[in-house]
Amino acid sequence: MHATEATQAAQRSIDICNACRYCEGYCAVFPAMMLQRAFTTEDMSYLANLCHNCNGCYHACQFSPPHAYGINLPQQFAEIRVESYAEYAWPKGMGSAFARNGRAMLTLTAAALAFVVLAMLLLVPNAALFGALSGAGAFYRVIPWGVMASFAGVTLLFSLVALLMAARNFWRDTASSLTRTISFSAIRTALSDAATLRYLGGGHTGGGCNDLDASFSHTRRKLHHVLMYGFFLCFASTSVATLMDHFLGWQAPYSWYSLPVVLGSLGGIGMLIGCVGLIWVKIATDPAPVARAVLGGDYALLLMLALVAKTGLLLLLFRATPAMGMLLALHLGSVLALFLALPYGKFIHGILRFTALLKAAVEREGRSVTGS
Ligand code: SF4
Ligand code: SF4
Repeated sequence: MHATEATQAAQRSIDICNACRYCEGYCAVFPAMMLQRAFTTEDMSYLANLCHNCNGCYHACQFSPPHAYGINLPQQFAEIRVESYAEYAWPKGMGSAFARNGRAMLTLTAAALAFVVLAMLLLVPNAALFGALSGAGAFYRVIPWGVMASFAGVTLLFSLVALLMAARNFWRDTASSLTRTISFSAIRTALSDAATLRYLGGGHTGGGCNDLDASFSHTRRKLHHVLMYGFFLCFASTSVATLMDHFLGWQAPYSWYSLPVVLGSLGGIGMLIGCVGLIWVKIATDPAPVARAVLGGDYALLLMLALVAKTGLLLLLFRATPAMGMLLALHLGSVLALFLALPYGKFIHGILRFTALLKAAVEREGRSVTGS
């Protein structure tokens, strides 16, 4: 990781934090920070990705602006996080996608939608594209299963490899000083911290984040949960449908009470509520601890996820009508854009944050063994 204005500003801040230690119980960042006296840019990348952006330390700090020290860790860490996404992106050249990320992601979405819609207009007969189809295999009469599975499989596989490579680059850069190996209990702790979004809980106060202002609430944590588990339910729905089709020969569309439809409906509704709610929190929050330059990428990911959820739910509602063909095109286009964008947009934060949580769990184990 290279030194930048953001890493230098954060380094000045945490030198003061290390002497002050008032926020020690707020999150994993402060205990990790207090293990050291001097910080490299790699340490800044690690601490920035460990930060959950709860704003707690900004509102608690007696040295935040307009104080001359100008300590604003949520803002400084958010800027470093985006720089770290570009630094660790795989393949290397793709890091440039994080500059003006909002515009890049929305352009990608528009291009993917246009590509799928145009391809279907040109290649699919009108009777299939604009007809009211029903019965097993109706979707595949519009677009063959093999074409659908190939596009989705190849793009998703590439993106998963790219995300794993980014996590590997991050780990190599930030965890080389670890003296302990990764244990099963450290992995379990990191998984639990990520699954419960522990550090959006307000640390020792337990009151949640400073979502909108200096008051505490669990709104952002709950919305993030609804979005995250909604996404997992949709993924489970697609996986179950693929298994039913491939191994049992039961072709979509499925009945309203079938497992893929129930999982997909709950997941889609959850994703939509989570996206809309988180966009509202971003609009309504106190702008002082916010890094304005990174907001575009945040909004773009939420809009992309909302588009996937909305087109999926509309497709479910109108699958037996003549609108099915174009809704299928819009849904597949939005899914294609999302899959392509996974390693080059805000989604990468989940992978790098989990990796940072894993390092923190390994460090905590080391401390409990040495008693420090
Ligand atoms: S953010 Fe402010 S109050 Fe909190 S530890 Fe740092 S200097 Fe102290
Ligand atoms: S914003 Fe929250 S999570 Fe980030 S360093 Fe401050 S207290 Fe910790």
